[in-house]
Amino acid sequence: METRVRYAPSPTGLQHIGGIRTALFNCLFARSKNGRFILRLEDTDRTRSEDCYVQNLYDTFNWLGFKWDEGPDDGGSYAPYIQSERSALYKKYAQQLLDNDHAYYCFCSAERIEKVRHEREAAHSSETGYDRHCRSLDSNEAKKRAAAKEACTVRLKIPLGETTCFHDHLLGKIEWKNDDVNPDPVLLKSDGFPTYHLANVVDDHLMEISHVLRAQEWLSSTPLHVIMYKCFGWTPPEFCHLPMVMGQDGKKLSKRHGATSIDEFRRQGYLPDALINYVALLGASYEEGSDAKHPDIYTMEELAKRFNLDKLNKAPAVFDYKKLEWYNGQYIRMKTDEELAHLCLPYAVKTGLFNNLTEAQRDIDTEEEKSKEEKPTARQREIFIAAMALVKERLVFLNEAPEKIAYLFKEPQIPAVEEFIPKKSNLANTIELLSYAQEIIKPLTEMLDDTQAENLIKTEAEKRNVKPGDLLMPLRVAITGSRISPPLFGSLRILGAQCSAERIKRALEKVTSDI
Ligand code: GLU
Ligand code: ZN
Repeated sequence: METRVRYAPSPTGLQHIGGIRTALFNCLFARSKNGRFILRLEDTDRTRSEDCYVQNLYDTFNWLGFKWDEGPDDGGSYAPYIQSERSALYKKYAQQLLDNDHAYYCFCSAERIEKVRHEREAAHSSETGYDRHCRSLDSNEAKKRAAAKEACTVRLKIPLGETTCFHDHLLGKIEWKNDDVNPDPVLLKSDGFPTYHLANVVDDHLMEISHVLRAQEWLSSTPLHVIMYKCFGWTPPEFCHLPMVMGQDGKKLSKRHGATSIDEFRRQGYLPDALINYVALLGASYEEGSDAKHPDIYTMEELAKRFNLDKLNKAPAVFDYKKLEWYNGQYIRMKTDEELAHLCLPYAVKTGLFNNLTEAQRDIDTEEEKSKEEKPTARQREIFIAAMALVKERLVFLNEAPEKIAYLFKEPQIPAVEEFIPKKSNLANTIELLSYAQEIIKPLTEMLDDTQAENLIKTEAEKRNVKPGDLLMPLRVAITGSRISPPLFGSLRILGAQCSAERIKRALEKVTSDI
């Protein structure tokens, strides 16, 4: 039998870590079995589903870069894949259950159901849910009332006094007394829309889903689903409820712990492949004896090759933000300068790194014009790519890059005079050191590599009887605007002789004016 799995989100919120983990495991499982991975939109809750969340779903997966084989946007033989477009089917199957006496009409008003709840609460009753009031109505009578368009829902008639049993791949045998299952839940609402339970079971069956891999919070719905499969006379899929994802305090991962929506991770400058790699490790292991990889850095292909349901952990997975940061850094370092530039570019454009307007132009422009995000010129693009080599080793997040390399695009603000002065030195010496730097700046920018540049500095420093480090400090501040900066020699090469010389000149003017 072909392996067919699905990710079945309800578009009622932003895509978050938990959802992505479910989607990813389904996708990896399908790939590992040469099966199909399906996206199904479960948008039957009309009050909570919103188009913006559907868009967010597509944007998220577009960014993550992995896709379903069948789904709403590209069809497939089981279309439509959007539940709101499948209403007629659910009605048909609800009718089938009514006809076979596995379901019944319920005419209770919301007020009545609310009243029962209050009464039970007041009596401290342990019973919850529907009181099965309409279960005993005469079925012919009920049919007539429904046909006369009296407002009603359709409820499942749970066979009482029996036990429902199923096998969960991770958790083993699960048994529930039917009397303890959600009492006769609504399958079809009074507006004709199905509830999650009906739509989910009908679609998993019609779409020939072989395995349901979903979050553990759905475990309590599964006995009910298994009962429904039985009522329909269908074979249920295999179930595997995935380990929970917790924060480090052992509580379910939530906003309190940090970013959870994928949008937020994206804004913070995470790489999709780092996020995928880390999320894939949440509750699963990919080691295979001798070819175990440490650290666990895997491409999507490798993950898919190694994914194995038998290697899921029962224990909840702990989401460790620091570990994810580490992965992000690792993935940044694996990129070529061009790739990294491509990834960092949107953040740079957003922060206005390439804004080419001069200060004078800025003054006359409108606010709107000022905030205009500009694309890089060809020369800026070249500098941007070259700059990646300078920061690659230190970046944790993509969005840190623009600020770190801003001095390569705009003259940095000249810092206070004290910043230029090396330890145990003074202003007069610093002026001298800057003039030395001025003398050697041309050859220095032309050195092809850092060792050559270093040697030149050493020789020149010796000649002038100063320490190489002392020569470098004011030069660094003049060029980058700060005592701490990306590598200086690389910066000099990128800026070139003329620009570097001008910066030293400005620095000299500043420090001498202070005497
Ligand atoms: N629509 C459900 C959700 O939002 C699907 C649960 C399931 O996979 O059955 O997660
Ligand atoms: Zn009722």
